[in-house]
Amino acid sequence: MALRSQLLRIAYNGQQARCLHELKSKERAGVENLREVLEDRLKEIKRAKTWKHERIITSPQDRKVTVKGADGEFLNFCANNYLGLSNHPEVVNAAQDSVKKYGAGLSSVRFICGTQSIHKELEDRLSKFHRREDTILYGSCFDANAGLFESMLTPEDAVFSDALNHASIIDGIRLCKAQKFRYPHRDLSELEHLLAHSEARIKLIVTDGVFSMDGTVAPINGLRDLADKYRALLAVDDSHATGFFGKTGRGTEEYCGLMGAADIICSTLGKAVSGAAGGYTTGPKELVTLLRNVSRPYLFSNAPPPPVVGASLKALDLVEHSAELRERLHTNTKLFREGMKQAGLTVAGDGHPICPVMVGEAPLAVELASGMLLKGIYVVAFSYPVVPKGQARVRVQISAAHTTDDVKKAVNAFEEVAKKIGLIKK
Ligand SMILES: *Cc1c(COP(=O)(O)O)cnc(C)c1O
Repeated sequence: MALRSQLLRIAYNGQQARCLHELKSKERAGVENLREVLEDRLKEIKRAKTWKHERIITSPQDRKVTVKGADGEFLNFCANNYLGLSNHPEVVNAAQDSVKKYGAGLSSVRFICGTQSIHKELEDRLSKFHRREDTILYGSCFDANAGLFESMLTPEDAVFSDALNHASIIDGIRLCKAQKFRYPHRDLSELEHLLAHSEARIKLIVTDGVFSMDGTVAPINGLRDLADKYRALLAVDDSHATGFFGKTGRGTEEYCGLMGAADIICSTLGKAVSGAAGGYTTGPKELVTLLRNVSRPYLFSNAPPPPVVGASLKALDLVEHSAELRERLHTNTKLFREGMKQAGLTVAGDGHPICPVMVGEAPLAVELASGMLLKGIYVVAFSYPVVPKGQARVRVQISAAHTTDDVKKAVNAFEEVAKKIGLIKK
């Protein structure tokens, strides 16, 4: 037996060596072809100046971060860490407790053996938080959107989508067979025109609550009126609002003074609420039950891991029982927006902590962001095709984790760099 296995091993090693040799001397034709094709595409991306440079953070996500290859700390003004919970001690502790109690993960999708008591607890908490009938958790909000439209809409139905909706909504809609209509950003009259001419069985209007590149807010009141007038449904993706927008953090509908306006809410647990990961859809119980039965990213992907679920439960506690974080975020946002205005800079958006500092041409936006980085402030420039041509900007995101001094420092740095690069007068 021993000899046999030894012989087998020698044969195996020989085979491996031969494979390696062949790989080195001559690449497989398929891979060679792929490299050639991709080389051209990558060149195109570089030529279009849309190459994504990733900076590597070597610390937790927080008010200050350290970055690989750069000295010192940077004040972070570009995370979705609106409430500063990503590295909040209570949230981190809750994640640790959950890992100890429930393990690292489920090795299963929800319907086989991937549902733990904490998953149900989080779904119940989210239903209560949003005052909806039922909630279904996903691995991400991207998944929630990828699994919504295909599950609920057939060719008899129609979906009406804001032109600036998030990529996950666009992709989710692509997967479904419903009739598809795109209305210009926040254009209610154009939307009404489309709704009036539709004879679809189910009509679904879908919008981001807050649009991430512009910090603009969806016209929830007008959308609700149209939904009622044309017997349509309103779905709101509140990823940039849940937990901090509106007086008690219940999102865009609360901010707009119309709690309950949305029939369906999709949102993320990867931004203000813990910042770890996870997404969900909340709404009518029949819809949620259908999603549990047919929604593909739910049926065919692992249950969210216990530390992530535990972190989100704790983050919801903090969201519900402490208005202080929201107030600090609001005060910081106001301070930043007013300071920038006084400095002669233009900040777009509707009073949201997403503060796009409008620049115009792409190279100038890059120069502004680089100048800020040299001053120890981490911000990022966005240009075409992420935003329209000629509307390049540096997007700032304010957090409750920032101190008043941090915000003032950012405003002063913007003023200095903007003067230096000629964006405002000296
Ligand atoms: C960030 C975002 C998502 C994706 O959320 P994940 O949970 O990170 O997948 C979806 N929709 C909108 C509007 C977002 O801003």
